[in-house]
Amino acid sequence: MAIDNRNWERVRYDEPRERVARITLARPEAANAQDYQMLSELNEAFDVAAQDENIRVIVLAADGKHFSSGHDLRSGSGMDDLPVVGTQCHFGAGGAEGYMAKEAEMYLGLCWRWRNIAKPTIASVQGKVIAGGLMLVWPMDLIVASDDATFSDPVVAFGVNGIEYFAHAYEAGARLAKDMLFTGRAITATEAQQHGMVNRVVPREDLETETLALASHIGQRPMFGLTTAKQSVNNSVDAMGLYTSMQSAFGLHHVGHSHNRLSYDGSLVDPEGIKVIRDEA
Ligand code: ZN
Repeated sequence: MAIDNRNWERVRYDEPRERVARITLARPEAANAQDYQMLSELNEAFDVAAQDENIRVIVLAADGKHFSSGHDLRSGSGMDDLPVVGTQCHFGAGGAEGYMAKEAEMYLGLCWRWRNIAKPTIASVQGKVIAGGLMLVWPMDLIVASDDATFSDPVVAFGVNGIEYFAHAYEAGARLAKDMLFTGRAITATEAQQHGMVNRVVPREDLETETLALASHIGQRPMFGLTTAKQSVNNSVDAMGLYTSMQSAFGLHHVGHSHNRLSYDGSLVDPEGIKVIRDEA
């Protein structure tokens, strides 16, 4: 399939190596904060890479100093012009219903969809990865981090349990997961690697080269072997209960959102605490 950029504004797409597609978050002026437009474009780009028979490996990278500062709710959360690719509906419903449906579709639904792409995926990460930023990194199969990368989920400060893709215990282990959530602190790339959350830590100036070298190496291996290996590991993690755990946490996440709205009429804290999160970025 020929590359069809479809006038994307928030992401770029290229093929920097044979059999390797690279999708780049291209909103560095906002620290790659994710609005619905970015997530929708990202989903289209993943589909292009997944359906291109010449591509075996997909790299997710980011322009600028920081990989992603999380979700950007300030730009509005309308879905009127966006394609719905998941199974959710009733986005305009009042109360908790519409809000929960939108997060199920645009956050948890899309991230889970990318996690299950039948090709290896590699996140190439620099700078800060905050809250919703983790939801782009964790669904990828491999993570290459530069030595300046940090990872945090500070949203407990705003009365919710954590981000919507609640894979903390699977990604970082139960102890570090609780440390991250209870303290809100940012863990370093080295600490993340020590806990199995990151595959490689490389100097910042070598991040692109090292990521593409890894992608090229994997891209020379047989597609069906890669696909079935990925599926087998994913099946193992699923058998441990990842998806069920995330669905359970997603319900509690929306109890948190609803609690904030009931208790503070939405005025004391943004449901995602995005303002404070953005100030950190
Ligand atoms: Zn939420």
